[in-house]
Amino acid sequence: TEELLRSSEKLAVAGQLAAGVAHEIRNPLTSLKGFTQFMKAGAQYKEQYLDIMMSELDRIEQIISELLLLARPQAVTYRTKPLEPILTHVISLLEPQANLQNVELLASIPSGLPPVYCEENHLKQVFINLMKNALEAMPRGGRLELAASASEEDGVCVTLEDNGPGIPAELLKRLGEPFFTTKEKGSGLGLMVSQKIVAEHGGRLSVDSREGGGTTVTVVLPQASERTDPASDAADS
Ligand code: ADP
Ligand code: MG
Repeated sequence: TEELLRSSEKLAVAGQLAAGVAHEIRNPLTSLKGFTQFMKAGAQYKEQYLDIMMSELDRIEQIISELLLLARPQAVTYRTKPLEPILTHVISLLEPQANLQNVELLASIPSGLPPVYCEENHLKQVFINLMKNALEAMPRGGRLELAASASEEDGVCVTLEDNGPGIPAELLKRLGEPFFTTKEKGSGLGLMVSQKIVAEHGGRLSVDSREGGGTTVTVVLPQASERTDPASDAADS
């Protein structure tokens, strides 16, 4: 019965997600259809219509690509990897954006962090999503601090602390809900996808925030062990 219950719960979640996806994609489709009909009816050609149509197509594309990450049809390969290059790569990807927005980027990544057993691209996606959220919260500048540390019982802990506007308590509860966004062009999928990826790595993701007090996101990942990666262990010896 437990198994049955679990699968019916899963179905309920799948149904909810499907309804959300359908809804999110219908909006830009409706608008695309409207513009197409409008132009077909002989309305004078306007460059700005094409710009809107393009951005609606971008939105659909963004939703689809984030969902694909979630559905994960590609082969997933977990490997034992050091975290430091993963973090520095993500930082280098987002540094230009931070500079552009006058966000001071501070990173404290000690050498000698324990390795993690991970799907590198997915883990990068998590830190990209989290850093993007922090940057998007500070369009007119601020400070974003990424710190990593090793801890005996938890493995590796990465915190991303920003001094943006923070998240009001009533919204904090809704984080990670599919399609929950406060942004005009947000997908509301970033945190849900990140949470899922971190959970698949056996880790935890938590958000600590106060309205007006900035936001701190913490990702804890277990240290790689022989049990999680026999392949690399064999290669080492
Ligand atoms: P999206 O970024 O597309 O809106 P996410 O799932 O990444 O979707 O984030 C959901 C919401 O959580 C955001 O719309 C925003 O309101 C809030 N949020 C996430 N990170 C932060 C942050 N660092 N500071 C303030 N708000 C945040
Ligand atoms: Mg986001």
